[in-house]
Amino acid sequence: MLYTSTRDNSLKVTSAEAVTNGISKEGGLFVPCEIPGIDLDFINSMVNDSYKQRAKKILSLYLTDFTSDEVSSFVEGAYADGKFSSEDVAPVVNLHDNVNILELWKGPTCAFKDMALQLLPHLLTGAAKKTLDNKEIVILVATSGDTGKAALEGFCDVDKTKILVFYPNNGVSPMQKLQMCTQSGDNVGVCAINGNFDDAQTGVKTIFTDKKIKEKFDEHSLVFSSANSINWGRLVPQIVYYFSAYCDLIKQGRIKLGDKINVVVPTGNFGNILAANYAKNMGLPIARLICASNKNNILTDFITTGIYDKNRDFYTTISPSMDILISSNLERLLFSLYNNDDKAIRDIFASLKETGKYKVTDEVLDKIKSIYSCGCCDDEQTEETIRDTYNKYKYLSDTHTAVAIKVCDDYIASTGDKTPVVIASTASPYKFSHSVLEALKNGNIESDNEFDMVHELEEYTGIKAPEQLSGLKNKKVRFDSVCEKDPDSMRKVVFDMLGI
Ligand SMILES: *Cc1c(COP(=O)(O)O)cnc(C)c1O
Repeated sequence: MLYTSTRDNSLKVTSAEAVTNGISKEGGLFVPCEIPGIDLDFINSMVNDSYKQRAKKILSLYLTDFTSDEVSSFVEGAYADGKFSSEDVAPVVNLHDNVNILELWKGPTCAFKDMALQLLPHLLTGAAKKTLDNKEIVILVATSGDTGKAALEGFCDVDKTKILVFYPNNGVSPMQKLQMCTQSGDNVGVCAINGNFDDAQTGVKTIFTDKKIKEKFDEHSLVFSSANSINWGRLVPQIVYYFSAYCDLIKQGRIKLGDKINVVVPTGNFGNILAANYAKNMGLPIARLICASNKNNILTDFITTGIYDKNRDFYTTISPSMDILISSNLERLLFSLYNNDDKAIRDIFASLKETGKYKVTDEVLDKIKSIYSCGCCDDEQTEETIRDTYNKYKYLSDTHTAVAIKVCDDYIASTGDKTPVVIASTASPYKFSHSVLEALKNGNIESDNEFDMVHELEEYTGIKAPEQLSGLKNKKVRFDSVCEKDPDSMRKVVFDMLGI
């Protein structure tokens, strides 16, 4: 299987090249030239498999330039016993009736980014052996929270890699900051930036193309790579868990082979829901994909009107990983809906750059509507949903998952659709203890620090916090440096951290 670029469809690269390059040189994203098809027998063959076995089968369809032994070793490394707190890796639990929750946060950092970022380092180093003469890879990440920690944990002590994470000094939650600053590993570095997330992101982009750094890197046989969500290596592991969830529903007797399901995804950068779309295109019986947004509802408007317009207020919400106005992975969907017309995609993104908006054709909008439904809710509704879901079903959801539960309720109420549903649950509620507690207790919180809140939430619900979060209290802070956001300061941090 080969991959092409959304902005130059004459390009053809292997999956190894797509993964090591991250983004195509003209700015496009890598997509498979064709989607591998599967039939119901294939699904049936996975019903009694472990998550790892399912992952090997699905990934082999996409990573055809790797041997099955190589794919197998990536999967064994990523989902090794003990890394995920559930034996099922991504368990499916029933919420009520035919509404089910796919819990994607059993990994080391308690957010769904682990599902991909545990695998990416193995895939990337495997790909580098084929494409980069085995040079050492330096991963640079600018993070607003979840990605940084998940990437640190994924790359921690992975041979032939180093990872450096920059985060905005006052732009991440106390728990997220602690998670990063206590990170173990000999190949990791973390630094705060005096600025906001955009400053961190811009700084990192500048470093990527900095001439002085390039020279030093050549001297030391180092190359940069990126672990952000436009990398194909981040997307492909996410396709697996939709198949896995479907198999688990069969195993639990909730559906029969061939029955359709709907999938609801709390969406930010559009990676997670796009992975479900790939699963559907491969032949997994998915009826509708339901895109859930918070108050930053640019995708709700887009799916409803065909107009993508980022000229609007940006809101900081209690579901911060969905506070986003540019959903990068949408580009991949548009490319396929425009029948791989790279010129149409270049025009759309030129328009987005110049005017901050674009409009798709009526034909493309019809296609979108035939696949996607959508909805959004604000913080108040999110809190209400956390409270109701707990009181009615004793299920504790985080703020992002609650947005999806609310949008799912609204969808069922307005359509009467009785198709079994899978809701993607993207974070442990204990990652957002403050907001979750506030929702449950109507604002009457007793604690004033993060760990007391974790404890208070445990007391209130009788549900234990993941060890990885409660255990942070006793971990030593290893990284406490702060740098300015100008290129000279950031370059110095990079050199210092790498010891070059
Ligand atoms: C990243 C993230 C999302 C958004 O996922 P996308 O793939 O960017 O749409 C939702 N919830 C949580 C908790 C996340 O960390």
